[in-house]
Amino acid sequence: MQRTMRSAADLAEAGLIAAAEVPALDQVAQRYSISVTPLLGRLIAEHGPPLARQYLPEPEELVTAPHEMDDPTADAPFTPLKGVVHRYPDRALLKPLLACPVYCRFCFRREAVGPDGGLLTEAELEAALDWFARTPQVREAILTGGDPLMLSPRRLERILTRLAAIPHLEVLRIHSRVPVADPGRIDAAMLQALTLDRPLYLCVHANHAAEFSTESAIALRALHGTGAVLLGQSVLLRGVNDSPAALEGLFRTMLRHRVKPYYLHQLDPAPGTARFHVPVEEGLALLRSLRGRVTGLAWPTYVQERPAGGGKFPLGMEVLLSGAGQPPRDG
Ligand code: SF4
Repeated sequence: MQRTMRSAADLAEAGLIAAAEVPALDQVAQRYSISVTPLLGRLIAEHGPPLARQYLPEPEELVTAPHEMDDPTADAPFTPLKGVVHRYPDRALLKPLLACPVYCRFCFRREAVGPDGGLLTEAELEAALDWFARTPQVREAILTGGDPLMLSPRRLERILTRLAAIPHLEVLRIHSRVPVADPGRIDAAMLQALTLDRPLYLCVHANHAAEFSTESAIALRALHGTGAVLLGQSVLLRGVNDSPAALEGLFRTMLRHRVKPYYLHQLDPAPGTARFHVPVEEGLALLRSLRGRVTGLAWPTYVQERPAGGGKFPLGMEVLLSGAGQPPRDG
């Protein structure tokens, strides 16, 4: 596996799927992009289902359950202009591109992300940066996408430098899969782009301990050296991390790599993702099973998106049992 696999035929050639599966998976690929980096291909071959389920397409993806929807977090109504999502008063998303190093089969933005999509033009990017500059109630810019670390270091540095120069932006945040999926992108130029005179929080998306390779350990150590605070975000996924041992392994591995587990997301109902669903009650029981045994440093906040863009809320026994109306917002 020398190059990124972008089709069912590539996956079959690498021995990750059977040749007989290619025609059905070609149909899936017409709707949802495929990308598996050589590193992840190697890890899938080594570790099997917990990684294969996240990255390899399945024919069920073309079956949409009645409760599933194209834009489950409802970004569209909170988009004042292209590339910006403003849902909470004090923070807003900037989506400079929609490409990712890998295309996760459970992604809540799966209808939007893809290799050809969403790179903001110069004019669109300028308009988005100008929106942040003239919106003083926004104190935190969150770069997401797609994956912002798929930008060239030069373009990323330009965006971060411009945002860091806006006085009311106290904090910058980036959400990325790159440190585990394609850590080779974290080179000297990327590290320089991420070295800022402004607090930078880097949320690393990973769902299983086996995603942390020697290569990603080196990248995470280097990222930590920039002064960025490393946080972990994960999604609770059937067949990937839906056991006490898998969650404990994931969170402990994050901590060993200087990544503080921050959020464990309940799966959003994006089309064709029903096979990943774990009921909330089961998720709560899994997290409870870590209590007392596992350091509190390892506990993330378990969160779920409200429907229709209502934002995240933390899931916990006190919320479920209190019956206290609307749970508090979080983000
Ligand atoms: S890297 Fe993130 S945005 Fe991209 S496909 Fe995976 S979950 Fe979706």
